[in-house]
Amino acid sequence: MFAEIHIERGRIRAVLPCLTGTIVRTETDSFEFPGCHVSPGFVDSHAHVVGLGERLAAVSLHDAPSLEDCLSRLSGSITSETTWLRAMGWNQERWSSRDWPSREDLDRCSSVIPIIAMRVDGHAMWVNTAALKAAGLDPTSQSGILIDDAMRPVWSAMPASSREEVREQILRATNVWVQHGVTEIHDMDVLPEWLECFRELAESGHLPVRIQSFVRGQDREWIEAGLLPAGGELHRIAGVKLFADGALGSRGAYLRSQYSDNVTTQGIELLSVDMLTSRMREIVDAGWSCIAVHAIGDAAVRNVLDAYDVVRGLPDGRDLILRIEHAQHVHPDDVDRCRRLGVIACVQSTHCCSDAMMAEVRLGAERLPWAYRWKTLIDAGITMTGGSDAPIESPSVIEGLRAFVHRTPYGMSSSWMPAERITSQQAVDAYTAIAHHAAGMEYRRGALHVGFDADLVVTSHDVCEYSDHIGNDISIQATFTAGRLRYSA
Ligand SMILES: [Zn+2]
Repeated sequence: MFAEIHIERGRIRAVLPCLTGTIVRTETDSFEFPGCHVSPGFVDSHAHVVGLGERLAAVSLHDAPSLEDCLSRLSGSITSETTWLRAMGWNQERWSSRDWPSREDLDRCSSVIPIIAMRVDGHAMWVNTAALKAAGLDPTSQSGILIDDAMRPVWSAMPASSREEVREQILRATNVWVQHGVTEIHDMDVLPEWLECFRELAESGHLPVRIQSFVRGQDREWIEAGLLPAGGELHRIAGVKLFADGALGSRGAYLRSQYSDNVTTQGIELLSVDMLTSRMREIVDAGWSCIAVHAIGDAAVRNVLDAYDVVRGLPDGRDLILRIEHAQHVHPDDVDRCRRLGVIACVQSTHCCSDAMMAEVRLGAERLPWAYRWKTLIDAGITMTGGSDAPIESPSVIEGLRAFVHRTPYGMSSSWMPAERITSQQAVDAYTAIAHHAAGMEYRRGALHVGFDADLVVTSHDVCEYSDHIGNDISIQATFTAGRLRYSA
């Protein structure tokens, strides 16, 4: 919409009609955007801020078309200063061979410097012999691919980033997000030791977006660190994050029956219903109001719902924000249960575009219709929010909107299972008004209302009328967080 917005002390003071575009007036400045539209700032309701910062610093293998190409990029990145080499984004499904790589492949880059390369989904790690040795693992018994929990020894052996490095990663990443019109991020699986960096950046005025931290709780890390929920304007410790399973690409997603392309496995149950329930009881007892659980496979989703059923029934259970992250594969029997339990589904539309072909093979024809269901969830009355899962996917909200509305896998020209597409208005809501429900901030964000926080995005076209003809032309012209201009084109 076109509008003239007046801002005072970070809040919207007036919204006036404007015929020619968007004007934003603060106490000291006036910004004019002729012909441009304004909407509430976008929320990326599932992302990894430090992860994107690391990715921006690591060797990118994201578009590598072959194993050889990955190896040459890695070799080319080794300098005399390199102590550990980190890379991200390889995907053997994109390679002509499609074979999983090995430690011997990586040993061709270096036999001395430990190399760790994360698969695109973040659930598989490819390492060389030097990295295995550094982690205290016997290389002769290892292929060089470590899945989910098996990565732990390598993570522990790797030198931790210094505080200064973490601060740099946060700033590097958040300054990319504002370019995409994002004013708030639900930051998932946050390590307790990073929180101080976020707080410092927020209080010193350097953080350009709001951050809702969901702290790691898989091994009760938040308890070990003595954390409790805490609130500031730009940085809030909002909730606890758990994992019920892994990812589909590495066959870590926990399915109710065997994988169609590997009948020896149903995936990995990272936390049973009992363990989920006991973790959640501790979380609720400590006064947290928000729980987010990663669940991709239909069995994992069911486990989480079983645990949420118990938690909703607790004396303080009614007002809890209970989220399922990804909710990629929801059994038909569980859709209405999600609604009844008031569970928020936080989905990543671009995963569908990246993984549709892989999902067909992993899941098989019969259960494929349960995958990446968006219209089904919304029509069933479930609150559904959108997030990028950056750095696994691009942090671009426009790309996320396009995926919701078009559902076209990358490299293809037509929609995949088009019945699950949603409208541009629904997609924008998932990134704005609805997304704020997932952190309990809907009472003051997500609409251009007087008294609401002045988190705004100015775009070249009206995002709510996002459709084929303007799809690729939308550009972000400016981003305001808490009433301050944080980005302009
Ligand atoms: Zn994630």
